[in-house]
Amino acid sequence: MATDADAQELAALRSLSADIGRNPHLTQAAGGNTSLKAADTLWIKASGTWLKDALAEDIMVPVAIGPLLKAVEQRDPAADQPQAFAIEALNSRGLRPSIETTVHALMPQRVVLHVHCVDTISLAVQADCEARVAKRLDGLEWAYVPYRRPGLPLAQGIAERLRPGVDVLILANHGLVVAAETVAEAELLLRRVTQLLARPARKVTGPDFAALTALAGDTGYRLPADVEAHAVAIDPESCRIASGGSLYPDHVIFLGKGSVVAGPGEDVKRVVERCGTAPIAILFPGLGVLMRGDASAGADAMQRCLADVTARIDVAARLNYLTAAENDELINWDAEQYRQKLNAAGN
Ligand SMILES: [Zn+2]
Repeated sequence: MATDADAQELAALRSLSADIGRNPHLTQAAGGNTSLKAADTLWIKASGTWLKDALAEDIMVPVAIGPLLKAVEQRDPAADQPQAFAIEALNSRGLRPSIETTVHALMPQRVVLHVHCVDTISLAVQADCEARVAKRLDGLEWAYVPYRRPGLPLAQGIAERLRPGVDVLILANHGLVVAAETVAEAELLLRRVTQLLARPARKVTGPDFAALTALAGDTGYRLPADVEAHAVAIDPESCRIASGGSLYPDHVIFLGKGSVVAGPGEDVKRVVERCGTAPIAILFPGLGVLMRGDASAGADAMQRCLADVTARIDVAARLNYLTAAENDELINWDAEQYRQKLNAAGN
């Protein structure tokens, strides 16, 4: 840390990060990240760690901003591997910086918060997102960034849309970025923007636990960690939306491509036979969701996220799903494989 003031801000950021991380409407699993610029150093959440652990563990990694920004500007593939820019002398746990480090480095403000806010994502998957958000964020300095894979491609997409004074980014099929000069201001801006983007969720009845238990049989499939996760299968519109494909990157990373919906009369065994593989989650229309026995905590968090996002999507909206190529580039991505490995290890 360069100064006491920086150290105080980093402490404030860790506290805010833990609050953000505990709110499933703002972040899920290892998603979302926060950062602070102190002189030439960017302190950023480490890849694969969870924001909710920001106070209990040391999850912030120092990165040299100048060299990283230069690599982004030169479209140097090294910018897609931010660990090459970590300041190892200050990185006692040997953590890798977030794969979204470039997003934070590009914003000129000192404090950057990036969240996978479910209200924002529900708008950011609609084809009319930009016009809808323009009405809600009127008067704010915001920019809309079309979908790109997180990492260097997203950084380039942001660089193309960034104007002086912009402190709010809506990332298509992804989430929200807010930036400010202090942690307190960033927190206020996050609260303001998420209130302006808030949307009501369609209400559903509860899951049918007896039916789900019978459908699981002896397969080892289990109920999701959060009861809220069932809504995506119970609400017919949410189920229809989910069955259309993948809507945002972390869904693909933690749950695989799209969603598997059971057909009439199918139990878990039949679904697995039909798919030729055991899906991480199965949606049973009108009844609820079952998770594979070994599904990670991250998968549970993302299954809950899918319910929270789809329940807020306008049922009449045209949706932008990730394309087959966009799904594949997420599944085959080295940096994400690292994050999944950390996630599987229980982080
Ligand atoms: Zn993100």
